[in-house]
This record gives sequence, C-alpha cells and structure tokens, in this order.
Amino acid sequence: MNLKIALLPGDFIGNEVVAATVEVLNAIAIQYGHTIDFSSGLVGQTAIDQTGEALPEATLNAAKAADAILFGAVGGATQDTKSTVRPEQAILGLRKTFDLFANLRPVKVYEALIESSTLKPEILRGTDMIILRELTSGAYFGKPQGRDGAAGSRTAVDTTFYTEQEVARLMVMAFELARGRKKKVAQADKANVMATGRLWREVAHEVAAEYPDVAYEDVLADACAMHLIRNPRQYDIIATENLFGDILSDEAAMLAGSMGMLPSASLGQNTNRHGFRFGLYEPIHGSAPDIAGKGVANPLATILSAALMMRWSFGLTQEADAMEAAVDKVLMDGYRCGDIAPKGGGDHSNIKIVGTKEMTEAVIARL
Ligand code: NAD
Repeated sequence: MNLKIALLPGDFIGNEVVAATVEVLNAIAIQYGHTIDFSSGLVGQTAIDQTGEALPEATLNAAKAADAILFGAVGGATQDTKSTVRPEQAILGLRKTFDLFANLRPVKVYEALIESSTLKPEILRGTDMIILRELTSGAYFGKPQGRDGAAGSRTAVDTTFYTEQEVARLMVMAFELARGRKKKVAQADKANVMATGRLWREVAHEVAAEYPDVAYEDVLADACAMHLIRNPRQYDIIATENLFGDILSDEAAMLAGSMGMLPSASLGQNTNRHGFRFGLYEPIHGSAPDIAGKGVANPLATILSAALMMRWSFGLTQEADAMEAAVDKVLMDGYRCGDIAPKGGGDHSNIKIVGTKEMTEAVIARL
C-alpha cells in the first residue's frame, strides 16, 4: 500500500518525537512491503515566527493532499494570552477544516509501568479504556464568546451549544468502538444542571437503543471524575462532550503514569484514497520546552499514535499490533525515558534509562 502522510511536527519536542516516529514508520514499511510518501508543513509557534500564521495555507494544502496527518505538539515556552495569533490555532484550525469531531484517547495501564503511577497498583491493574471526546463543538466554539467591560465591570461569556446530529455521530462512534472491545459505553454529562447535558442524555439513549448488544450507562461528569480514580477498570468507552472530555481525558492520562505514553486520534467522517477514515494522530503531551533539544523526550506516545494511524486510516491491523507489541516489549525489557523512570524503591536492576534515540532503536529492534 502507498501511504501519504503529512508530518506537522510543530514546536520544541514535537520535532524530536515526530522524527523518531518516522524512523519506526520507515522500518514498518520495509518489513510489510509498503511505500510511504511523507510531506511536511509548519504549524504552531514555528509557523508564526516564519509566516505570521499558526496554520499557513501551504501546511493546510499538504494536509489536504495526504491520507493522514502525524502531528507533534505546538506551543511556545511562554503563553501570550493577549496575542490574537496563537500556536494552538493550528490544531483548532485543522480540527475545523477536516471536521475531526471525535478524539479518541486510549488509556492503557502497562504492567511494566504500574509502579510509576501515583495510584495503587491494585486499583490500576487491567485498566484499558478509551475516552471519546467530542472535539469540534461545545464551549470552545459556541457563540457568543468574548469579553466586555472595563476594570470594575469586566464580564466574559462562553456558550455551550450542541445539535442533536453532533451528539448522535459521536455516540454512534462510541458504540461502534465498544463492539470491537468490551461492549460497554458510559456517557458523561451534567444533565442535572445543563440543558446541553439533557440533550446528550436523550440522544445517547436513542442511539443506545440501536445497539442492544452494548451495555450503556449515563454518568454525571463529576461522578465520572471520581470513579476514574476509585475504580478505573470499570470503564471501556467513556463518551463525552468537548469541555468535560478535555478534563476527564487528562485525568485518565495520569492513570497511565505519564503523558509521554499516551497517543490520540482525531477522526471525522471523511475518508482517504484507501476508503479509510482521514485522521490526525498526535501524542497528548505538549511541546515540553523544558526538555527540548536534550534528546530525552519520550517518543512512545507518538509511535503509539502512528500505530493508531495504521489501524484507523489504513486498515493495517497487523502493522498496528506489531508497533504496539514492540512498545510493550521495550517496557518489559526495562527501557525507560526519564518521564517514566521508576521513582520509588524496589528492584530496578533491569531498568535502562535511555534518550529518544536509544528508545526509538529499541522499538525498531522489536518490531
Ligand atoms: P507538556 O505536555 O509540554 O509538558 C508537561 C511536562 O511533561 C513537562 O515537564 C515535560 O517535560 C513533560 N513531558 C511532556 N511530554 C514529554 C515526553 N514526550 N517525554 C518526556 N517528558 C515529557 O505541557 P506544558 O508544559 O503544560 O506545555 C508546554 C507547551 O505545550 C505549552 O505551550 C502548551 O500550550 C503546549 N501544549 C500543546 C499541546 C498540543 O500541542 N496538543 C498539548 C498540551 C500543551
């Protein structure tokens, strides 16, 4: 198969983890007889510095010509909240342009890393869920949105707005995903206090009726936050609106021990040349300016994001499984970047602390 992949590495360690992942993808292509055409584009602060825009036209064109996007991370070392041109406009613009309405974040607790989480191993063991977050609507996009007034009478407004179609398409994806897994969907809302929550619940029930083979439950988003820490194993798919999904997915990320381990996929309805979903794949971590250029960034989240790409945008299940298994093996063999280094006591004689390059080579050797 010929894979056209647009590389949008972005800022700081985005460049390092995307470069590492390209090496893994090249190795996979050789092993399984595929060809890959990589294109690349500027995004984020790097793009602003060079072109004045976070998502230049040339980048958008490269993305449009591709089957899938591999995105690094965007963000400067400091947040300029007053500037009207900001790095994160790149990712928001891509989501809008391609109508990437569903963000999948698999959260898997690796047995080899169970000690690096702040939670007790007996709570975490066996946790394997997907947080499915609505991505293109809700409070981050609803109008009116803005600020008014001078000091002493300043006001601000954000609006949470959803249509039933936006809710239904996310819930359909949740049930479809559940069918290939443990057949359980929980939908997190605030139906007790928000009209949008009541719409989510109503539509979720209508979609659930079409999937009698999948267990469905409503959960209040605040209670869900609590259950995630108390008993994360109970969840298979958690589907939720944009703002709650943003928060719950970061909380769930901490179950896995480190941001450096977690991949994500953003998918829409559009298909690529091969008839699979066009998608944007990225690690959930940011650009980590504090460690950039030191060669220590953990590339595993981006490598796992590329595995999701193999599965979702190319239907290459074997290749995806091989990449995920290789990551499992490097961890079992004791390879750790600094962010997942064991912190407590215990026997660490098997542990090898490595940088981006050695970790990448270790993954490739185990494909
Ligand atoms: P961050 O995720 O960049 O870093 C948080 C901490 O985790 C840092 O100590 C960092 O060194 C560490 N870390 C993150 N990824 C790592 C990796 N792969 N390997 C090892 N350690 C890793 O979050 P932050 O510091 O809050 O934000 C930095 C910048 O990134 C900001 O400009 C922010 O806006 C941006 N950001 C971008 C995205 C995105 O592009 N999707 C997401 C989050 C934050």
